[in-house]
Amino acid sequence: MTTRYLTQNPCYRLGRTIRVRGLMLHSVGTPQPDPLVFIRQFDSPDYTRACVHGFVGPEETWVTLPILETPGAAMRGWHGGMTASNDAYIGIEMTEPDTIRYTGGASFQVLDREAALVHVRQVLARAEDLFTRLCRFHGLDPLADGVILSHAEGGRRGIATNHADPEHLWTGLGMDYTMDRFRRNVAARLAQPSKEEDLDMTLEELLDQLTDQQAHQLMQKAHRHAASLPEPDWSQTEGGWEAATGLGLTDGTAPERPAKRAEVAAMLHRLGLLE
Ligand SMILES: [Zn+2]
Repeated sequence: MTTRYLTQNPCYRLGRTIRVRGLMLHSVGTPQPDPLVFIRQFDSPDYTRACVHGFVGPEETWVTLPILETPGAAMRGWHGGMTASNDAYIGIEMTEPDTIRYTGGASFQVLDREAALVHVRQVLARAEDLFTRLCRFHGLDPLADGVILSHAEGGRRGIATNHADPEHLWTGLGMDYTMDRFRRNVAARLAQPSKEEDLDMTLEELLDQLTDQQAHQLMQKAHRHAASLPEPDWSQTEGGWEAATGLGLTDGTAPERPAKRAEVAAMLHRLGLLE
């Protein structure tokens, strides 16, 4: 799980707090698996359409508004389209596979069902995990009425706009997955001991137990976070990154990620300095 708050979004700038009464599950409604695409889009002062508390992708879960800082409280988001849900619910978006094509509304064509199912199952496992963590932190009972709702269920209760997500995705892919199953799975996970309690060891003990390969995975996780950060102001002012991108020295993505030795050599080579 990675934290990257949408600090540029006008909703974040308002900084209102809600008392958490429940959790709402959404699906993005567009065939884009990568949470960072949405995070970059949402993290802008001009983006007034929505502001959600997190995005779940197949490989990573991103927390995008403060939801795990104070038990019982969260920053208010814009996800349910109505005050009744935005004032009381944490809203989490799941990404969707790029092997479907929307044909209008919540209807879509399936280009590769097996690939789509792999994506949806990975995302669901991560979403169940995040909702378990949120229930534990905020003291919520996942099986109590109205605690965990989909956007579609919120719509039927009159507390959210009339959307079909995320059930439309499961139905359209012919899965036998339902919101009831989601709630039951979260409740079953909640009955297990907390993973955080297992991590009651010192940093030295943790590092000692990590293999080099696991440590490398940890570094890759840190690099994924670094890759999501925007170009710093000083760099924009100096214009060096823009010039390097213009010259084709770099592809212009991930200005804050560390360079690898092979990448440095490639840049020197592109400059003709190795002839
Ligand atoms: Zn929704």
